[in-house]
Amino acid sequence: MYRTHNCGELRISDLNKKVTLSGWVHKSRDKGFMVWIDLRDRYGVSQLIFDEKRSSKDLIKNAKDLGREYVIQVTGKVIERSSKNTNIPTGEIEILVSDLKILNSSKVPPFTIENKTDGGEELRMKYRYLDIRRNSIKDKLIFRNKVSSEIRKYLNGLNFIDVETPCLIKSTPEGARDFIVPSRMNSGKFYALPQSPQTFKQLLMVGGLDRYFQIVKCFRDEDLRADRQPEFTQIDCEMSFVNQDDVLNTFEGLTKHLLKTIKNVKVDKFPRITYDNAIAKYGSDKPDIRFSMEFGELNSISQHKDFNIFNSAELVIGISVPKGNDFTRKEIDKYIAWVKRPQIGANGIVYVRCNEDGTYKSSVDKFYDQKDLANWAKTTNANKGDLILIMSGDKDNVRRQLGELRVEIGETLGLRNPNEFAPLWVTDFPLLKWDEESNSYHAMHHPFTSPKLDQIDLLKSNPGEVKANAYDLVLNGNEIGGGSIRIHDKNIQSLMFKNLGFSEKQAKEQFGFLMNAFEYGAPPHGGIALGLDRLVAILDGNESIKDYIAFPKNNSGKDIMIDAPSSISKDQLDELSLSLKK
Ligand code: ASP
Repeated sequence: MYRTHNCGELRISDLNKKVTLSGWVHKSRDKGFMVWIDLRDRYGVSQLIFDEKRSSKDLIKNAKDLGREYVIQVTGKVIERSSKNTNIPTGEIEILVSDLKILNSSKVPPFTIENKTDGGEELRMKYRYLDIRRNSIKDKLIFRNKVSSEIRKYLNGLNFIDVETPCLIKSTPEGARDFIVPSRMNSGKFYALPQSPQTFKQLLMVGGLDRYFQIVKCFRDEDLRADRQPEFTQIDCEMSFVNQDDVLNTFEGLTKHLLKTIKNVKVDKFPRITYDNAIAKYGSDKPDIRFSMEFGELNSISQHKDFNIFNSAELVIGISVPKGNDFTRKEIDKYIAWVKRPQIGANGIVYVRCNEDGTYKSSVDKFYDQKDLANWAKTTNANKGDLILIMSGDKDNVRRQLGELRVEIGETLGLRNPNEFAPLWVTDFPLLKWDEESNSYHAMHHPFTSPKLDQIDLLKSNPGEVKANAYDLVLNGNEIGGGSIRIHDKNIQSLMFKNLGFSEKQAKEQFGFLMNAFEYGAPPHGGIALGLDRLVAILDGNESIKDYIAFPKNNSGKDIMIDAPSSISKDQLDELSLSLKK
């Protein structure tokens, strides 16, 4: 037997027990006549003691020779420590070792296996298996398992069944590029890795399975943005005989269950806000509503004077920064410079200080009087002591710019507390978005999303205006999931393909299997997919997903530990009928 207990288990109540432990040498302290070793495994650390008076000379010598990360097995007696460590659960006891066996030696690790390690990201990724030995990574993987097992429990309890869908498929149009796998047996033909199981889960509904879920890997070959992974995990779900409310209520239930069981946080009914409202109020379709600072629209009360910048703008909007009147001129200038950076691209900010005595002082006092400024304060919900920040320009840009400024200020004012959870639903997304590059409409969500049925006619006359039965779940300013009610009528599906610029032939080639299925009694259905990596990170109070993935790719899409992607041999290329461009 390798062990009677694990390294995190023994307590003062185990005194005098003879125990056997196995684990890694975490640290050792050599006082000459005494040696202490911290023995570590997944469950914790136990202190071993080797003592000249009570142990044999050979044993002491062997203990002194142990290197960091050696794997050892010890047998000994649980004794009370003379100086106790209250920081760890095993801190009251130690093991007086009578027998030591080296199970494996170790090279000196390239970085310290501690929470605060000296290893940089690159090195940690190259030796990820050592990185995983650190509590800070190990705990995140254990946390992830806790979340995913609660998800399974909850969905199983609601009659969802876990069905695996294939990984070698034909391209699914989720808006990204596919990862392609050449077929050896079918020369010149290719599989695609799924961007999501979208079409399969719809086919499972046609198959009558009623409620499906899968915690599933998805693959998207996108240009890498920070904190995106080319392969990531979705909690993918689909339901039959449901309308939008049914899906939202079910997954609101799941999210509440996770917040309650994992974080002990109770959240009331999630606000539901339309896409148009989210953009108009927060300049974002994934608003962070842990703090307010909602946009006030000022066109009608700011375009009546000689201030040309406002007069010529399509939209004038402002936010009120709570207690912002405390900002120094220098701080305000810093934000002005911040919005002028090319990433934001604004021309500047007009500001109004709301003084404690009820008067206002603005950067446009030449044009506006106290009454104007008081109106602006009312519209932006500004109180005495606040600061109003106003931007103007064309609608889409100025909303985006002020939205970014809102989040930046929320961050600096400490209003984005990672231990606070503010979920909401954003609904009624546009069905289509115009793509300048291809000069055509693209599906905003995906081509299987149902338009609002009372807007079908608009699809012919003004497709850009049509709203979809599509929704996103947003948590703390992050989109953590999205879904829709699907089209289950083959005529509407054909119309949709037509609007997306597919000829009948192309639609048949790409999606004939789905259109065929729709001829055999497809039930009304809808679903959603939540991003597990991000959900887990946010629940744990972090924004970065990398350390919640055991073996993530780096920012260039590479796994530097296994050296992937890598070249393949000429023989392999030949077998796949591939050749490389010279
Ligand atoms: N397949 C969609 C996605 O990956 C989710 C859904 O519509 O259920 O975003």
